[in-house]
Amino acid sequence: MKEQDVIIVGAGLVGSLLGTMLSKRGYSVRLFERRPDMREETISAGKSINLAMSDRGLKALEIAGLADEILRIAIPMQGRMIHDAQYNLSFQPYGVGNQAINSVSRGELNKRLLSMAEHHGVSIEFNQRCVDVDVLNGSVTFVNEQSGASQSVASRLIFGADGAFSAVRARMQITDRFEYSQTYLPHSYKELHIPPAAGSDHGQQFRLEKNALHIWPRRSYMMIALPNIDGSFTCTLFLAHQGSPSFDELKTEKNVSAFFQQNFSDAVPMMPTLIQDFAANPESSLVTVKCSPWVLNGKVALIGDAAHAIVPFYGQGMNCGFEDCRVLLECLEAANDDWPMALRYYEAYRKPDADAIADLAVENFIEMRDKVADQRFLRRKKIEAFLHERYPDRFIPQYTLVTFSPNVPYCEARRIGIEQENLMEEFLSDPAIYEDWTKPDALAHIDAVMQNRQPVMYKPLSPSSG
Ligand SMILES: Cc1cc2nc3c(=O)[nH]c(=O)nc-3n(C[C@H](O)[C@H](O)[C@H](O)COP(=O)(O)OP(=O)(O)OC[C@H]3O[C@@H](n4cnc5c(N)ncnc54)[C@H](O)[C@@H]3O)c2cc1C
Repeated sequence: MKEQDVIIVGAGLVGSLLGTMLSKRGYSVRLFERRPDMREETISAGKSINLAMSDRGLKALEIAGLADEILRIAIPMQGRMIHDAQYNLSFQPYGVGNQAINSVSRGELNKRLLSMAEHHGVSIEFNQRCVDVDVLNGSVTFVNEQSGASQSVASRLIFGADGAFSAVRARMQITDRFEYSQTYLPHSYKELHIPPAAGSDHGQQFRLEKNALHIWPRRSYMMIALPNIDGSFTCTLFLAHQGSPSFDELKTEKNVSAFFQQNFSDAVPMMPTLIQDFAANPESSLVTVKCSPWVLNGKVALIGDAAHAIVPFYGQGMNCGFEDCRVLLECLEAANDDWPMALRYYEAYRKPDADAIADLAVENFIEMRDKVADQRFLRRKKIEAFLHERYPDRFIPQYTLVTFSPNVPYCEARRIGIEQENLMEEFLSDPAIYEDWTKPDALAHIDAVMQNRQPVMYKPLSPSSG
């Protein structure tokens, strides 16, 4: 079966990793990418400049042998640094000990993934835009973006890894009984910039705490900032597209300046190019895409954002796409490289997880922009951390399940999270626990409940990870 060729459409983050994994498993892989080779030309990645990579992404990179190299160019962020409306700073750890998410450059990551794929024998053709897929016979038509020449390439297996607005998926959509939904948030985003501190010789003086993801929560909107290894921060403003306040209202320098002075005045002195950046950088929308089936005729399959584009508020889109690759590999293992069976497993295991993280990501937007500045929420987070420390196998915070537990399926993280939410409501409604959860009367209530609880159980991530 391994003589089978595989075509992957899209050499973004997920397509390049998938290529490496399948090539390492002995398949002959051809990767086609619409854009020029980013290692040779300066091209904007088109989305975020940096990304938060967490344990799920790292676990998949380990299989490709790339995790250590990527960690060397990443900045660990151990928690959120909240800049409240009065400009007080407070730090909320993401986990315990050294647990951290990692800020990594999207461009650098993609370049290294491309080189890794080539190193493992994947052939990559750039400037090749997929314009059609023959989903019955298994072939893809590409048009060369420079010459305009078109070619048709046949393969018994085609992966669409061509992102949120996938051409492969668009072709699957016009087959019978293809379910599809595309939901936009009312909010858009715009990227802005905090340069390294002036006067730093090597450009590595950070103007804000380096090892944190900074958030300026302002209820219906927020700004965040992630560190880059050159000492700069990439900021992202998430704001409604229309209404008040909204991007629609920020069409003049005066309005932009007044809006930032009013809402983010501690950040403004660190953003010398704010007005120019605001005018130059696009306002981009935030979309959730759900679809089914992911596999057609046992020949065409979707992976990464092409199968499930999600909003970025849990920092999981890429992590989830990388996990798709890892799970697919485990499905191949379980199916002994019988592709039809492996693809059936892949879709059955992955689809509920993709749906769950899509919903969690939308829910986390409300947490980030609104709740992180709320006193009850902060107290709740502290009690959750305390419960996890005292009963590590009986209470695991949802953020930990999603971000630091790569063997827990997202749908299980969501289910366990909802169930634990009820428990937290019970604890928070006890004034003794709310006031000080370490005092004897509070502890008596906590221990009585927790000692009767079972350890957290979850179903396996894939057919071979049980
Ligand atoms: C603002 C923002 C912040 C984010 N932050 C995070 C984060 O912190 N952590 C995280 O895990 N995720 C994050 N994400 C999500 C992450 O960017 C995506 O999940 C990830 O890029 C998906 O990878 P992909 O390879 O599936 O798709 P893409 O990265 O979109 O790659 C698709 C590739 O296919 C190519 N392509 C497209 N159409 C065609 C065609 N017709 N023919 C040939 N090639 C084609 C494209 O050029 C591209 O190279 C964020 C997203 C956004 C928008």
